[in-house]
Amino acid sequence: MLKACGNICKIDKLGRIVVPVNVRRMFDLAENSPLELFVEDDKIVLKKYLPQCVFCGSSDDLTEYKDNHICQNCLSELKS
Ligand SMILES: [Zn+2]
Repeated sequence: MLKACGNICKIDKLGRIVVPVNVRRMFDLAENSPLELFVEDDKIVLKKYLPQCVFCGSSDDLTEYKDNHICQNCLSELKS
């Protein structure tokens, strides 16, 4: 469920918004933290980006290969 956090952001000339410091702290976001953008009906949702295995969705023990992430389990299945 969406919850208002009491912040109104304005988009600047270059299309950027500032994620307020209280929200950054809430989600442990540092400079250059990747965010994933979603749209649903009239909403734009920002989500902390957590890479996941392209095969099983796990976020543990990932290896990156050509912009995709693969977990160790799926990697060893591929190798066998
Ligand atoms: Zn996997």
